[in-house]
Amino acid sequence: MEIFFKILGYLSVPLMLLSAFSLLKSLKKTQPVKLKSIVIQMGVSIAVLIFYILVLNVNPPTSLSLSLLAAGAAFGAIWSRSTSLAVTRGVVYSKRSLWYMVAWIASIALTQTLSLTATRELVTYGISTIYLTTGIGFGTNFSVIIRHQRLLAARVTSQLVCSFCGSKASKASKFCNHCGRKLV
Ligand SMILES: [Zn+2]
Repeated sequence: MEIFFKILGYLSVPLMLLSAFSLLKSLKKTQPVKLKSIVIQMGVSIAVLIFYILVLNVNPPTSLSLSLLAAGAAFGAIWSRSTSLAVTRGVVYSKRSLWYMVAWIASIALTQTLSLTATRELVTYGISTIYLTTGIGFGTNFSVIIRHQRLLAARVTSQLVCSFCGSKASKASKFCNHCGRKLV
């Protein structure tokens, strides 16, 4: 089983590099937000988590797993603010900052390192980091979905919304009352 885990870990390295490359290419570029692909992404991350648990037959204590999921989701919701959203002609576009990339690489590298070097005792902790990254993915995507909906709703009522945190802002103010960032 440990060998299987290691093979799985090595196989995911080129996959990871590929997605890192595509993410780098999309960096600083505005891209339309597709809710469908966000929902698919969330579904895939859950499927991966279930797959790991079933295949490895190891599961950290439920309290640990749940708190890691929650901590990840909270972190993801904050991290998501490094992606700014803007509406142009009824389509919501996102722009990822360098911090998004840095945090993403760090979390993947952590999971990979743990899964590649893991001994039997450490596999349980390796799984824990997957809970964390799944939580982060969920928090990030969920926050983007909410801000996406708010932006579209605000567009109808022609109200200004912060493109980083999604809070309502008055047209007279230059900076967001909620997160303090410059209103675009
Ligand atoms: Zn804000």
